Amino acid sequence: MARYIFITGGVVSSLGKGLASAALGALLQARGFTVRLRKLDPYLNVDPGTMSPFEHGEVFVTDDGAETDLDLGHYERFTGVHARKTDSISSGRIYSNVLEKERRGEYLGKTIQVIPHVTNEIKDFLTIGDDEVDFMLCEIGGTVGDIEGLPFFEAIRQFIHERPRGQCILMHLTLLPYLAASGELKTKPTQHSVKELQSIGLAPDVLVCRSEHPIPEKERAKIALFCNVRPDHVIPAYDLKSIYAAPLAYHSAGLDQAVLDAFGISPAPRPDMSRWDDVMDRLQNAEGEVKIAIVGKYTQLEDAYKSIAEALTHGGMANRVRVKADWVDSEKLEGEGAHLLDGYHGIIVPGGFGERGTEGMVAAARYAREKQVPYLGICLGMQMAVIEAARNLADMPDAGSEEFDHEAGKTRFTPVVYHLKEWVQGNYTVNRKLGDDKGGTMRLGAYTAVLEPGSKISEIYDGALEMEDRHRHRYEVDAKYRDQLEDAGLRFSGMSPDGKLPEVIEYPDHPWFIGVQSHPELKSKPFAPAPLFAGFVEAAKEGARLV
Ligand code: GLN
Repeated sequence: MARYIFITGGVVSSLGKGLASAALGALLQARGFTVRLRKLDPYLNVDPGTMSPFEHGEVFVTDDGAETDLDLGHYERFTGVHARKTDSISSGRIYSNVLEKERRGEYLGKTIQVIPHVTNEIKDFLTIGDDEVDFMLCEIGGTVGDIEGLPFFEAIRQFIHERPRGQCILMHLTLLPYLAASGELKTKPTQHSVKELQSIGLAPDVLVCRSEHPIPEKERAKIALFCNVRPDHVIPAYDLKSIYAAPLAYHSAGLDQAVLDAFGISPAPRPDMSRWDDVMDRLQNAEGEVKIAIVGKYTQLEDAYKSIAEALTHGGMANRVRVKADWVDSEKLEGEGAHLLDGYHGIIVPGGFGERGTEGMVAAARYAREKQVPYLGICLGMQMAVIEAARNLADMPDAGSEEFDHEAGKTRFTPVVYHLKEWVQGNYTVNRKLGDDKGGTMRLGAYTAVLEPGSKISEIYDGALEMEDRHRHRYEVDAKYRDQLEDAGLRFSGMSPDGKLPEVIEYPDHPWFIGVQSHPELKSKPFAPAPLFAGFVEAAKEGARLV
């Protein structure tokens, strides 16, 4: 049976609960324990799959094809534990499960209520995989006191009560605001949010206090006294230059010790921090800088491409170079021209949906091809590179994607990228129609690509002839144009195992130009950078003559 750590937040949102949870997971691993992290989100969407990246940031996809919150990306990047479908749940999913059961008559005519039916559904979810790990870390989205979050808090209260004593703890994050006029840190909001927790039957065992200023011992003692927490369980959390400094910072602030203490695990196993020492060494001792342009359309909100930004940092760490990533709005590129990309050492065109901004992405691919600048096209970025090749090399001036202009039932383009209606997943065939529901119906999750021997992509994967990365797309490059495009110089260097779906394209006569249908950024970690990002940054570094 796993021990449970519930992570909640109070006072304000965006306190870095996800990061604190991920860092704690990494610290428990450093002490030799196994962990799994889970996110419980109070919103009513069934999953974040249909939410705009502007609203909610990136959708993080798991190996088993769940579309989840970007916090699961943090969890994976810090612990290396691959998340599953069953590690992310929303109120929407819970209610939808309950209502499905009701329709099937599973409640035998009972009146369906939040307590016990919704809370039972939540508790059942918490225990999935309970016997696999030492610690289950469950983060509750939102802030204590939110109406939507109440069923989750109530379920946790029941859960803690039903488990043997000492099996569950609660870690609560708060903010200590600083009043410049009086030069003081204020503890009252923290006291209030702990009171709010207590009023629903929960009490924190560990308090993590975010603060922009050092927390004096006196204030720490005061928080401990008023919030009914031991003084050494009040953990200060200051702003950090890099998120990857969090495990070491939380360790020196005593977080893992406090957590193990709260469980009564004594003596605590000694931690091995070498992984994070190495990560920090690489971050702090980088030489030189490469400039990368990310040409996309969700550039106003950095969280929309969170994993790409992180994977670039990891690629920099692998090459001991700093990566300066600029977000270039593809629509601006359409208007002002590709010269906006002058001076960059590498260009990324990331994933995206819809026609808006895509001409700018095609222009970016052309610029990279003609100027011999390293190019990494991810999903939509690969599709745009293929369209560019078709138009400008293979004599198909009206090449485009069926994703654009398809409302009329046909597109004005020759669809070198088409709507995928049937594909093989494991042992069965998936079928889709144009008008299907939008939620959860894409080609999602990990798929294998078979790589051509001697290709650049195979070289990047150390000579491997297969790679596996996560997918999230509805459209696909049409293999029927393969010969025509290969004659024009584009190589299809990776295909699905049945040979039907193009997975990787590259130009053999270009220093570094690769497009992948998958999202390699999702599996990148600071201690294990995604090979494509490490290779891309290496090529940029060569272009910048930093080697
Ligand atoms: N919009 C494209 C598709 O659905 C690409 C998706 C993506 O980039 N993730 O195929």
